[in-house]
Amino acid sequence: MCGIVGYAGNDRALPILIDGLKNLEYRGYDSAGVLISGAKGVRVERVVGRVSNLEKKLQGKRGFEGSVGMAHTRWATHGGVSERNAHPHADCKNEIYVIHNGIIENFKELKQELGEKRHAFKSETDTEVIAHLIEQIRKERPNLPIEELVRQALRKIKGTYGLVVFDAREPEKLVAARNFSPLMLGIGKGESIIGAEANAI
Ligand code: GLU
Repeated sequence: MCGIVGYAGNDRALPILIDGLKNLEYRGYDSAGVLISGAKGVRVERVVGRVSNLEKKLQGKRGFEGSVGMAHTRWATHGGVSERNAHPHADCKNEIYVIHNGIIENFKELKQELGEKRHAFKSETDTEVIAHLIEQIRKERPNLPIEELVRQALRKIKGTYGLVVFDAREPEKLVAARNFSPLMLGIGKGESIIGAEANAI
């Protein structure tokens, strides 16, 4: 078990996400990562080890002021413990990003299929196939909104997941889905927060 936190609203997302991850630390993890979207575009940072390492790495970095974001603590199941394998994972164009708790059981078949369609993988994780699968469906059906692309991708996925997807084309949104792995959604006035459990939110 590991952790997920997502925030979309009007406050700065980063402190909310870091707080949420800290409240999930007791569940155990080996690496951590965060994505923030704001006026300066999309920023991603990942580290091996503790959430405090992530905080240190982010100190003084610009561009992390946005009010939409998602963060993850990973407990590696597919692929070693490395920065490259830490979440978020992205598609070929760095447009669609995914954080995920759980296991994609048919990732080998999906990775092979997507590889034949010239998707280039940057990690050894099962999670990364989700981003490329969504990208592939977008190529085939370019006008669908991100939530529909995610829905269609999940029909092809076997396994357990709590996941959050960010799409740079619709940067005010986060899309979340779950199957067996828990996720909890908090809805406020003009803001939403999602977490792997109540402690996160
Ligand atoms: N299976 C994914 C990975 O190895 C997610 C593991 C997790 O639940 O943190 O990256």
